[in-house]
Amino acid sequence: MTKLDGKVAVITGGSAGLGLATARRFVGEGARVFLTARGSAPLDAAVAELGPAATGVRGDVTDADDLGRLYAAVDAYGQGLDVLFANAGAGRFAPFGATTPQAFDEDIAGTLRATYFTVQALLPLLNPGASVILMSSAAGSAGAPGLSVYGAAKAGIRSLARNLAVELGEREIRVNVVSPGYINTRPEDADTVAYQKAGAADIPLHRVGQPDEVATAVLFLACGDSSYITGSELFIDGGRNQV
Ligand code: NAD
Repeated sequence: MTKLDGKVAVITGGSAGLGLATARRFVGEGARVFLTARGSAPLDAAVAELGPAATGVRGDVTDADDLGRLYAAVDAYGQGLDVLFANAGAGRFAPFGATTPQAFDEDIAGTLRATYFTVQALLPLLNPGASVILMSSAAGSAGAPGLSVYGAAKAGIRSLARNLAVELGEREIRVNVVSPGYINTRPEDADTVAYQKAGAADIPLHRVGQPDEVATAVLFLACGDSSYITGSELFIDGGRNQV
């Protein structure tokens, strides 16, 4: 028996990086997975790789109509929703003094607001016993240059999990947060690789993490192994924020 046998899961931002790594894990554990991403070509490639247990629904999580289409696709499958991994999010480095109101609004919208309304849009489909996992970041609880908006958005997501755990607990729905540190999702980007390598040099495990190490943690929160865990934050950060 696999850990997600017969379960229906949604992963936003599932065509690349941590979302795709988690989709591989979920499919391997027997789940039927619905993936969203903005670009058709990467989404099609991800679905082709994952096989018949995966369905791609192209869409932007900041767009209410696209979230409505995601709802309709999962609803049409007819088994409700057991796991929601609200993973999609983006941020940019910007010095505090140079952050414009427009950039602030865009980054909050693409991260905190999008996560909030993704869960709200799919809420009617969540089955009793469902698991909701929100993607935060180690940056939500540690400061770093240029991450004032991103960090605030991710801290907001951590707070959202606490509140939803209380409200949705009455329906036996668990809500938790994963907070990765430096994870190697862009091996082709020399600047990102150098930034992460330098940042990881002084953390307890002295290395950058791999996407599958995040996927393993998400799987734990998604399945029955974590049945008495809700409202919590699981760091996958090599100890960066723990010491
Ligand atoms: P990535 O760029 O490798 O992949 C992002 C995925 O999200 C893609 O599938 C993209 O299409 C999708 N996406 C982005 N914005 C979207 C939107 N508005 N609507 C729909 N899909 C959207 O990114 P990643 O590194 O895997 O990051 C995924 C999540 O993990 C993000 O929320 C990020 O903040 C968080 N995170 C990443 C790291 C890291 O080191 N990589 C660390 C902490 C947190």
